Amino acid sequence: MFMHNKRLMYTVRVSEPNPALASLMLEQFGGPQGELAAAMRYFTQGIADEDPGRKDMLIDIATEELSHLEVIGSIVAMLTKGTKGKLAEGADATADLYANITQGNGSHTLQILYGGGPSLVNSAGQLWNAGYIDSIGEPTADLRSNIAAESRAKIIYERLINVTDDPGVKDALTFLMTREIAHQKSFEKALYAIENNFPPGKLPGHPEYANKYYNMSQGPGDMRGPWNQGEQWEFVEQRHDQQAVDGGDGNATVRLAAEEMAAIEKVSQRTMSRPDSNPTTGADLGAGPGAGKVKQV
Ligand code: MN
Ligand code: MN
Repeated sequence: MFMHNKRLMYTVRVSEPNPALASLMLEQFGGPQGELAAAMRYFTQGIADEDPGRKDMLIDIATEELSHLEVIGSIVAMLTKGTKGKLAEGADATADLYANITQGNGSHTLQILYGGGPSLVNSAGQLWNAGYIDSIGEPTADLRSNIAAESRAKIIYERLINVTDDPGVKDALTFLMTREIAHQKSFEKALYAIENNFPPGKLPGHPEYANKYYNMSQGPGDMRGPWNQGEQWEFVEQRHDQQAVDGGDGNATVRLAAEEMAAIEKVSQRTMSRPDSNPTTGADLGAGPGAGKVKQV
């Protein structure tokens, strides 16, 4: 079950209203790297996890992410608060209200459509959707994705910190950013607490292809580095060694029933091209006087 405490996880001290900044903050409320996405990601993973320790961690972090959602949502609400009342009550001159809500970004949408409350959209107004969550139900893959998700959330916070001078907003964002670092550490530890975590899943890779690096893009700019050189790599450069690497002829085949074969033969006959033809087409004729000309006459 969930319980709610009225105190926020971190105190939000916004210096002054700023509707344009509020709309930027929505990125971490309803955006792909935002707190709702994080909470739903770990909550759904935790519910299904068979490992008691990992399940506990996932639900702990999911619940913390909901607390972050509350913090970032409160930042949005404080930044829009000054204008919200005036707009609802028509308490300012039209021109002043207009100027107040059109300070840039999606500030007008935030005020006109959502009444100044945090809405589940990103900073460009794109609606939140569950497609942001890429869980696959295999902890060795999901934990890696979670580590990457925490990295992305950290970077978005860093960018948001860089676009505001409000010390209170910076302070709360720094807390949220720092917690994503802590989560990344927990997920990484949890990943390596699974002894067989690479490759992800159960099946080993085919030994023939697991240690080869195919230099597919060739020309000036070719580089060697730890990703393609050293003991564990076989560097495959020759074009003929990159094709039909299984030793076959590199063609796609399938065994068909006689009936299927006959139907395919028919469709192939019916749609066959005549490479020796040069048919006159609409492009040659033109669509009307002066139109569609492709050559001088
Ligand atoms: Mn968070
Ligand atoms: Mn997090």
